[in-house]
Amino acid sequence: MSEALKEAEKARALGEIPIGAVIVRDGEIIGRGHNLTETEKDPTAHAEMAAIREAAKVLGGWRLTGCQMYVTVEPCCMCAGAAVWARIEKLYVGAAEPKSGACGSLYNIVQDERLNHCMEVETGLMEDQCRHIMKSFFRERRKEIKRTGNWKQVRLTKEKESEETKE
Ligand SMILES: [Zn+2]
Repeated sequence: MSEALKEAEKARALGEIPIGAVIVRDGEIIGRGHNLTETEKDPTAHAEMAAIREAAKVLGGWRLTGCQMYVTVEPCCMCAGAAVWARIEKLYVGAAEPKSGACGSLYNIVQDERLNHCMEVETGLMEDQCRHIMKSFFRERRKEIKRTGNWKQVRLTKEKESEETKE
């Protein structure tokens, strides 16, 4: 989960909602991703989707059998669905998400026996850290919006900052 948190930090540095995911097989990370919906202008660019895509590429097939996925925040309907399709074996969740979580909170797509695959779920792994990064992000964002009246401006500044640190 600490690796998934590192991914979440990458998202935060871009002004994205800080969610990260990694996929592990035989103790090795084979896929990682962080939320990039704003940067990519893509509503499907969630951390889990990127990690699943990368892992499937590494394995050379869409069946991620025997793989565990670590996500800092409970996956949404789309990502929970993708995890089912990918045949993820076990899901580790940092913080539950009562407003949109589809792995036990609002729905439980990953353990719906009407579907052709179910997975084990363990929620609350490094929960404090996963929750803290989200809370501090939204706190900072609210402050910035108050200061500038415009979140887009805040994001552009962040993008510029990360460009500068790359140089
Ligand atoms: Zn999602």
